[in-house]
Amino acid sequence: MTLELAQLRVIVIEDDVSQRQLAVRHLTRLGVKAVAQAGDGGEALELIRSAAIPFDVAICDLSMPGMDGVQFIRHVADGHLVHAVLLLSGMASPLIATVESMARSHGLTVLGSIEKPVTEQKLGNHLLKFGPGFRVRPVRAPAPSLSGADIERGVQAGEFVAHYQPKVDFNTLKVCGFEALARWNHPAHGLLAPAGFIGVAEQSGTIHALTTRMLALAFNQLNTWSVDGLDTSVAVNLSVAYLSGTEAAGAIAALAQRSSVPPQRITLEVTESLFSANLAAVLENLARLRMMGFHISLDDFGTGFASVQQLLRVPFTELKIDQSFINGAATRPNLRTILESCLQLSGKLKLQSVAEGIERDEEWQLLKSLGCHVAQGYLIARPMPADAVPEWHQSWVTGH
Ligand code: C2E
Ligand code: MG
Ligand code: MG
Repeated sequence: MTLELAQLRVIVIEDDVSQRQLAVRHLTRLGVKAVAQAGDGGEALELIRSAAIPFDVAICDLSMPGMDGVQFIRHVADGHLVHAVLLLSGMASPLIATVESMARSHGLTVLGSIEKPVTEQKLGNHLLKFGPGFRVRPVRAPAPSLSGADIERGVQAGEFVAHYQPKVDFNTLKVCGFEALARWNHPAHGLLAPAGFIGVAEQSGTIHALTTRMLALAFNQLNTWSVDGLDTSVAVNLSVAYLSGTEAAGAIAALAQRSSVPPQRITLEVTESLFSANLAAVLENLARLRMMGFHISLDDFGTGFASVQQLLRVPFTELKIDQSFINGAATRPNLRTILESCLQLSGKLKLQSVAEGIERDEEWQLLKSLGCHVAQGYLIARPMPADAVPEWHQSWVTGH
């Protein structure tokens, strides 16, 4: 839902007087009633701080004498001074992308960027993205501080569950499997995402108990779905901390055998950025698991600094391109180039390529046209509890 443009409060920050007045005129014609203007970041901050009601959108040039747009954005983000920013620039797009990322990593909502000259249409298109929800600053509950002992107790009490997210073949639209993602049904804090506990589990050593639980859940789930008529495969994430003990490969094989699940139906996803301490043990485990027939996936490809080297060392069967390369690739030529190279590399190494974090139709179209094999992301489905999977699968099959 969008707000009426007439209800928006906008400030234009631009040193070039004619450009600034042009933007203000366009805004007025678009029906925006509350428009303020400033010639640099410093002047804008004064206006913003003294305003009785916060501004919704700061439309901001990047290079200005005095406080430039980049510094201004940091101040605005630190003080939560506006609800969203829209960038203006005459510069080449790679720099714009950097500033957009910087603004987002400061927690600011970025409506987009406009290359000068500003037109009524460009302004209107971006401002219409401003929804009423943008005015509500997300209230982040303080992250609960949880210890290894809490995790241990949680595992014993069966509080860890797996949510499953489908992976779909770009060409056939068939569902090729589900990734198991850990969730902690915490009695006091509610459903916790992995970002809140995987790090603690790795540091405290409880990652072993937690991973064992996740593997057992996922393998048993394959059998349960099979009874419901859904024969599929499953992927489980493994921390390098878990793979650093030499017994990991044997333990995984034993769990699969106990559930009568053939290794060919199981993909083990390993995050490359974690390759570290006990490299010899990690490599031994992965080599043995591959020999037994498990698929091995290199997760979050592109985010670590030794990615290409890992491809030489480990018998991977799949490469998952990190979602940071997918978001916005349809509109950013540099991202597209990186994606193309990743997919070429993957193809030449005869690996299955998976694009994770596909949220928009244009991302789907782009990755498909670049020859990527498998898609995963909110566009297809969010991770869901196991018992929701058969119904989702049925509706997917019916719809495609
Ligand atoms: P991952 O393995 O790369 O999993 C993909 C993450 O991206 C999941 O987050 C998923 O919910 C999210 N995601 C999927 N599609 C989209 C999308 O279209 N847009 C966006 N914005 N996000 C999307 P989640 O479940 O929070 O998991 C985060 C990470 O935690 C996982 O990243 C994985 O590295 C780790 N993790 C999850 N479960 C386990 C586990 O059992 N063991 C270990 N060691 N790590 C786990
Ligand atoms: Mg994964
Ligand atoms: Mg990933």
